[in-house]
Amino acid sequence: MDPTRTILVQQDSATAPADRGALTGCPWHDVKTMLRQVGLRPTRQRMALGWILFGKGDRHLTAEMLYEEATRAKVPVSLATIYNTLHQFTDVGLLRQVAVDGSKAYFDTNVGDHHHFFIEGANELFDIPGAEVILDKTPTAPEGFEVARVDVVVRLRPKNSNT
Ligand SMILES: [Zn+2]
Repeated sequence: MDPTRTILVQQDSATAPADRGALTGCPWHDVKTMLRQVGLRPTRQRMALGWILFGKGDRHLTAEMLYEEATRAKVPVSLATIYNTLHQFTDVGLLRQVAVDGSKAYFDTNVGDHHHFFIEGANELFDIPGAEVILDKTPTAPEGFEVARVDVVVRLRPKNSNT
């Protein structure tokens, strides 16, 4: 195989807007860089929320959870602004939305391909380790379409639940 071809492929996959692997050091500065890279103005609110979201590794948060954390961190922000910001971040590829049921949307800071466990009742969402195969066959897409992504949420409940 021609080695230059391999390098080209790697460059392609690195052009995703959420290339956060290269960001290290001060999280505040990283958030600013991240926002600029995706063309969002680093307003104070976006900076503060981005810092809460991305400063602690991979996370799964609902708007309400982020609102609670922002309030605890004394970031003056309304729930409506939280919703707007989460959707803006999702639109530019910084976050991935995971729909668990009709009423709850989780926002995932890990935008790479992966699937989720969801503990019903506890409302806890976490990653299924990447190596685990969920589907051994991707369904055939209808005429004129291709499969963009497969999202699997595997629902869990405690084995000896008496409630
Ligand atoms: Zn996840």
